[in-house]
Amino acid sequence: MSGKVIVITSGKGGVGKTTSSANLGMALASRGKSVVLIDADFGLRNLDLLLGLENRVVYTILEVLDGECRLEQALVRDKRQPGLALLPAVQRRDKSAVTPEQMQELTGRLAEMFNYVLIDCPAGIEQGFRNAISGAHTAIVVTTPEVSAVRDADRVIGLLGAAGVGEPRLVINRYRPQLAQTNDLMSVDDVLEILAVKLLGVVPEDEQVITTTNRGEPIVLAASPPPAGQAFINIARRLEGEDVPLMEFKLPAGNGFIARLRALFTGR
Ligand code: ADP
Ligand code: MG
Repeated sequence: MSGKVIVITSGKGGVGKTTSSANLGMALASRGKSVVLIDADFGLRNLDLLLGLENRVVYTILEVLDGECRLEQALVRDKRQPGLALLPAVQRRDKSAVTPEQMQELTGRLAEMFNYVLIDCPAGIEQGFRNAISGAHTAIVVTTPEVSAVRDADRVIGLLGAAGVGEPRLVINRYRPQLAQTNDLMSVDDVLEILAVKLLGVVPEDEQVITTTNRGEPIVLAASPPPAGQAFINIARRLEGEDVPLMEFKLPAGNGFIARLRALFTGR
């Protein structure tokens, strides 16, 4: 098997990398793919909580690399989706714990065992970021429609290119159609104009993302997933090469009118 190694990254923290990793992993696994999620955000250990697997973590990447356990022993298999496994993060924030060469070797081994190797990247562009991207074939860049997040995404896209990570694709998360094109939030078109990358999907802002996260049950697992969950499922299908049209976000009538009115004045 030669799986795809994809890093999920952003530059800015808190934009939804870990949420995207958990939901995409779960969605791909429910489509019959084998998926391993690597929590490369050392010190924070978020991914296990989002997946509700925290009580089953025994070993981490560190013990695998130190030869204290076998790779298979460190993998936590999801009971809901047996195709999904988690390789937990080192618990202490020790920047020198792992090297890019070690990550390359590890992702290479995992790619022989799984269809997808998804790497949940830490925020920032320091050593942790460089480790996380070093074994990746391609990247998913997550941003919110805020100027500061888009600016950081732009920087990361540049660094990915320089590091030879192929063609990054973009997820715009926490989208609020009613607020797009105000001073603080950009529209999908605005973001795409600045970041010259392919759009993989747009995930709306939804409180249920937060409540499901707190329960350790990614939103894609819901019996009939709300739009945010459906958006992640669509992204998983696009990763699989399916041609899935972008979701339409319906604006409340009043906002639509105001948007049209504004368009008259600004000529957009
Ligand atoms: P990162 O890994 O980039 O730091 P997280 O995935 O931890 O970001 O998300 C940061 C916060 O935003 C979390 O509280 C998460 O529940 C919330 N969040 C993420 N995506 C959405 C969304 N689409 N709607 C609402 N809240 C979201
Ligand atoms: Mg995170």
